[in-house]
Amino acid sequence: MTEHIRRTKIVATLGPSSESPEMLEKMIAAGVNVVRLNFSHGTPEDHQLRADNVRAAAKKLGVVVGVLADMQGPKIRCGKFKTGKTILKVGQKFILDGAMSLDEGTDERVGLTYKELVTDVEPGARLLLNDGLLVMDVDKVVGQEIHCTVVVGGVLSNNKGINRAGGGLSADALTEKDKEDIKTACAIGVDYIAISFPRDGKDMEYARSLVEAEGSNAGMVAKVERAEAVLDANLKAIMEASDAVMVARGDLGVEIGDAAVPPVQKKMLRMAPKYNCPVIVATQMMESMCENPIPTRAEVNDCANAVLDGTDAVMLSGESAAGRYPVEAVEAMHRTCIETEKQRVMPSSQTRDPRFPPHSVDECIARQAMEVAREMPVKAIASFTRSGNTALYMSRHLGDVPIYAVTSEDSTLGRVTLFRNVTPLRMDIDYGPTDAPKATLDIQAKMLEEKIAGKDDLIIMTFGTPMGESGGTNAMKIISLK
Ligand code: PGA
Ligand code: MN
Repeated sequence: MTEHIRRTKIVATLGPSSESPEMLEKMIAAGVNVVRLNFSHGTPEDHQLRADNVRAAAKKLGVVVGVLADMQGPKIRCGKFKTGKTILKVGQKFILDGAMSLDEGTDERVGLTYKELVTDVEPGARLLLNDGLLVMDVDKVVGQEIHCTVVVGGVLSNNKGINRAGGGLSADALTEKDKEDIKTACAIGVDYIAISFPRDGKDMEYARSLVEAEGSNAGMVAKVERAEAVLDANLKAIMEASDAVMVARGDLGVEIGDAAVPPVQKKMLRMAPKYNCPVIVATQMMESMCENPIPTRAEVNDCANAVLDGTDAVMLSGESAAGRYPVEAVEAMHRTCIETEKQRVMPSSQTRDPRFPPHSVDECIARQAMEVAREMPVKAIASFTRSGNTALYMSRHLGDVPIYAVTSEDSTLGRVTLFRNVTPLRMDIDYGPTDAPKATLDIQAKMLEEKIAGKDDLIIMTFGTPMGESGGTNAMKIISLK
């Protein structure tokens, strides 16, 4: 009996706590499947070095680790203060000043990274600073100055984020910096590019066109973190236009209010299978582990519930980037996922509804393979795939039999790292048209060699025939290992 493979994937954000080669090895050994490079910090050279280190550590450990480049997006921030911070008191007046230079903040006013904020707010608008810890209401707009009254006070320090309650900011999802960063990410050859604050499907399509213009086929991840994005029509269009979505609970919670986030998360997890769209649940999942070696019961519960609802991946942010216990945070997620998956009775409403007709032959084969895997004592499913699509379709059906995406394409091995219950398996699949019998023998040998299954075990193999030609999966074989 092989040990239980964790079905749910772990995404970990790199930062000072985790980016040294030694720490990367520990993080990957502890179970990280995808590493997130935060493009809000660092130069192109820094990002390249981080990606190189991730790949070297993964290679050393003999595993495939995906790389996700996260674009900063139009995150609006205040400038810096001459003294590093100011203390805001309830009822006091404060000015956000679009005309002020970015490093001259005082106790009365501070600069803005996004000058257009002035045209986006009107008297009565509510602004949330530092992830909602500080609140101010707009009294009036005078030229480039937004005059506010502090409603919830506290310390405001350099470069803190600003959101508008209820959304409605005009900022484009892609800034000039993002467009440059997309070029860097493509040159590095990342597996996924995450777009911050997309409003709708069009923002994702535009972002993809920039990525394709660089000759990259990186997967596009939409970070759902803007009030507009969670409207049903926009969410649907975003899922159709993206290769994955992130429930970006940090900014989303500030824009729509914390209490509105759980239902949105549930809704996204319910909708996503219909669009064959993987989901990453992100932000504050193990937040207390920034300081403590163990999570709170509530954090474990939050992670477990995301698994129960069928998420593809759970994500670490500050916990792994800047926290004191990055490896322990991965371990906490790992054991939570494993334990939850053992108990899980998946409600059928959260699997891909069998009444949605398959869009294509490969999707149809994927579904049938999962059906057979439910009815027969199958040990593993081996999907011979160039694009990874068949493995993606299989993993939308919440079966428990492990799916292996068998391919020689590096970009496909990287792509499937995010998919629930899919393990990348590197194998040379450059077969000729009539090589299906040879491929059958090869996968049998590989399954035995990797101890994925033993003698007399049943496995399912899916592939496209004639082999070696481009074109999708159209065949399935049930094999008893010899
Ligand atoms: P961020 O995105 O960490 O880049 O802000 C995630 C979120 O907002 O939850
Ligand atoms: Mn965000």
